[in-house]
Amino acid sequence: MTHVLEISGLLKTFGGLTATDHVSLTVDTGEIHALIGPNGAGKSTLINQICGEITPNAGQIHLAGRDITRLPPADRVALGLGRTFQITSLLDDMTVRENLGLAVQAREGGNFRIFDRAAKRAEIWDEVATILKDSALGDRADVTVADLAHGEKKQLELAMALSQRPRLLLLDEPMAGLGHVESQQMIEALLAARGECAMLLVEHDMEAVFALADRISVLVYGRIIAAGNADDIRANPTVREAYLGEEEA
Ligand code: ADP
Ligand code: MG
Repeated sequence: MTHVLEISGLLKTFGGLTATDHVSLTVDTGEIHALIGPNGAGKSTLINQICGEITPNAGQIHLAGRDITRLPPADRVALGLGRTFQITSLLDDMTVRENLGLAVQAREGGNFRIFDRAAKRAEIWDEVATILKDSALGDRADVTVADLAHGEKKQLELAMALSQRPRLLLLDEPMAGLGHVESQQMIEALLAARGECAMLLVEHDMEAVFALADRISVLVYGRIIAAGNADDIRANPTVREAYLGEEEA
């Protein structure tokens, strides 16, 4: 079968430091694959190579069977690679509904920052209404972004990323900075999105990882030292020593 994402033998060095040490991993259709590891393990470096912001020294990255290793970031997006928008890309003076409208319009090839008659395009607003109806932001549609809580902004980022209909969504620490209730809402939103796209999830919150991930890969010093389901990873002595043990300290 063709994997949504297939990374093979990926290598990235920064001077004498090997940040990605011959990493191979796959993400399958409908899978939530978590990538965990201590600070400095190389998680963000790996995500940035998948996005195309960093070029590997060696190895390949395939997205839905296409070799994207050397493609610029925008071409990867066009092939179905998604990542959460940064909060800074939300338009603060606009409402939740308007931000989503612009994101949907961007997918259709419009200019992200200009409405371009979008107000007349009823199908965009119908789609936005459908997205909002199923989201935690349902009753916040007409609130401006500046008035949203942090967790609501993260929910909006996720909804905007999903509105691009990616095959694979890259999530670099979606729970960061969220309180317990907000984390639970994010977990629910990600579970609800599981049918729409595959996800590669970098996350420190182990409760979230164990709740969400079909498979977990553990990265330490640029190398995948273990991979398996939540039970495999919890029980793995090398992981406990290298990573989970550190969390308890
Ligand atoms: P993580 O996201 O798991 O915390 P990173 O991918 O950010 O880890 O970093 C992995 C290693 O690569 C770290 O030792 C970090 O200092 C180093 N590193 C990351 N980016 C660069 C860079 N642009 N130049 C030099 N070293 C880097
Ligand atoms: Mg990081």
